[in-house]
Amino acid sequence: MLNFSFTPEQEDFRDMLKEFVRAELLPNYTRWDREGVLPRGLWKKLGLLGVNGLRIPAEYGGSEADCVTAGIAAEEIGRGDFNLTYAVMLNSLIGEIINNHASEDLKKEWLPPIASGDKIVGIALTEPDAGTDAAGIKATAIYKDGVYVLNGEKSGISVATIGDAFLIFAKTKPDLGSRGISAFICPSDLPGVECNGYEDMGNIPIGRGSIYLNDVELPEKYLIGLEDKGFIQVMNGFDLSRLLIGLQCVGAALQSLDETIEHVKGRLSFGKPLATYQGVSFPLVTHYTQIEMIKWQAYRGLWLRDQGLKHSKESASVKWMGPKCSQEAIHECLLLNGHYAYTKEMPLEQRLRDVIGLEIGDGTAQANQMVIAKDIIGKEFRSYERPVPSK
Ligand SMILES: Cc1cc2nc3c(=O)[nH]c(=O)nc-3n(C[C@H](O)[C@H](O)[C@H](O)COP(=O)(O)OP(=O)(O)OC[C@H]3O[C@@H](n4cnc5c(N)ncnc54)[C@H](O)[C@@H]3O)c2cc1C
Repeated sequence: MLNFSFTPEQEDFRDMLKEFVRAELLPNYTRWDREGVLPRGLWKKLGLLGVNGLRIPAEYGGSEADCVTAGIAAEEIGRGDFNLTYAVMLNSLIGEIINNHASEDLKKEWLPPIASGDKIVGIALTEPDAGTDAAGIKATAIYKDGVYVLNGEKSGISVATIGDAFLIFAKTKPDLGSRGISAFICPSDLPGVECNGYEDMGNIPIGRGSIYLNDVELPEKYLIGLEDKGFIQVMNGFDLSRLLIGLQCVGAALQSLDETIEHVKGRLSFGKPLATYQGVSFPLVTHYTQIEMIKWQAYRGLWLRDQGLKHSKESASVKWMGPKCSQEAIHECLLLNGHYAYTKEMPLEQRLRDVIGLEIGDGTAQANQMVIAKDIIGKEFRSYERPVPSK
């Protein structure tokens, strides 16, 4: 049976979010960018609406929703405030990882405040010398007398300047590759943790930056998953975040297309509405078609995840095409709105800046194409780790 409909509960959830977006997010989206602050009040409001705890069990304060429902939140909030979609993506990803791999004590300590929006937790994998080649990280976590001593530098980390804790990846076996990496929850107020923000082009309220770890003594209870296996154990979480990122970009593009369609219906050129010219309507149709196709591939990926089926290549396809096609759609919308859209009075220039960030964050187009190539061509033809076999 093939069925593309959402459940009545999912439709109600979408309607509720649409009203929230209309009343509270759209009118303020550009304000947080100008002021350079994350609206913690709205992040907490998302907690009240059940958005922060979508992938967290009810016993820890979550709303225990399926992945498709998390996708609805990413899409709808993406329409209203791209930066607040980090609450959907980060909290779903980190909520799942903690719930699946952390000790009971850690779950009780971190899941309820993540779900309520009281605490923000980021994910820190990238380093100055290791981005796409994530297994090449150099940060170390050396066990000594009941604590892991963390040293190293994480770079490009979302919520670096505002996070209460970070899911940090570090090498517990520095001589090994991905098989020597462990994952930890590291509170940002521990001695030796220092966070510095960047002056970014977009996603400004998100406070991206570097995290320096200088002899940070982290009690062993903060280990997530098994020692040396953390990286491999939690990698599957990125299949979820990539689908959600695709949908948050799709949301921003659809909102821009809707606004632009209204504009071209009303704006006259040579005595007729712009919408009557195919030079105007066909680009809108092209972008709308691409975005709709990515949207449904994203929901398909989330559905596969909900069924416990393989979805890495679907997720990677959404991650590389979603941000790319969305920024192209928003760019076109900006042009079709004319010179006024080039000002900061309209949200289009900010949407463009914000969406471009996620062409890089959580893996570039090439990084995701590597995932798809491995699946459809074969892992023996990977460009890394092993040479291509000779015939
Ligand atoms: C908005 C934003 C948010 C982010 N948030 C986080 C976060 O929360 N946590 C975190 O850990 N990181 C985060 N990052 C960092 C991000 O994940 C990395 O920037 C990304 O993985 C790319 O790594 P890099 O910048 O080191 O580029 P590099 O890996 O140096 O790549 C540079 C270029 O070369 C290409 N390239 C690299 N290797 C290959 C290859 N083998 N074949 C073909 N092309 C290749 C890449 O696609 C890219 O275009 C964020 C980045 C941004 C922009």
